[in-house]
Amino acid sequence: MAVDQREYDYLVKVVLIGDSGVGKSNRALLSRFTRGEFNPESKSTIGVEFATRSIEIDGKVVKGQIWDTAGQERFRALTSAYYRGAVGAVVVYDISKHASFDNVPRWVNELQDNIKTAEGSFKLLLVGNKSDLAAAGQRAVRVEEAEQLAEEHNMSFMETSALDATGVEEAFQSILSDIFNILS
Ligand code: GDP
Ligand code: MG
Repeated sequence: MAVDQREYDYLVKVVLIGDSGVGKSNRALLSRFTRGEFNPESKSTIGVEFATRSIEIDGKVVKGQIWDTAGQERFRALTSAYYRGAVGAVVVYDISKHASFDNVPRWVNELQDNIKTAEGSFKLLLVGNKSDLAAAGQRAVRVEEAEQLAEEHNMSFMETSALDATGVEEAFQSILSDIFNILS
């Protein structure tokens, strides 16, 4: 039986944050990882949307509920409901836009204002998306500076390309297994 049709052992909410245009949503990270199976209820009722994807870790089914902003980040108006109950966050920037990287600490601060859990019980992953643009000479954020920022904020770090799928599966598997390690 496909893993998605089974009962799950852990349901984990992960929020996607980061500037508008970095590649969080449609035909980008979220839909790549979840195969675009959105919950049809969520967008109209609560102004955000999420999609789910289950993975198996150590014989347990971890169902990731990945929340996306539905564009609200443009107005810097993510509500506390967006963050409520989340146990992980993927903070995304665009490797070809340094400004989106400069805003990462603001996103981390907003997250910390909204997530009131004990240190160590929440996992953060920094993702530099659009890595495919590096080959075209459009890299504006060096890997080393991202690694340093990630270390300062106690985040894991990976680069991805939602366009050619590089690293996307690994990124979400990584944050879900980090979360699994706290819960199990
Ligand atoms: P969001 O505002 O963060 O949700 O960003 P979107 O998902 O709407 O994507 C913004 C734009 O970036 C769209 O035109 C996407 O097609 C494009 N995009 C997303 N991911 C990638 C990627 O990995 N590489 C490239 N070159 N473009 C991407
Ligand atoms: Mg979006």
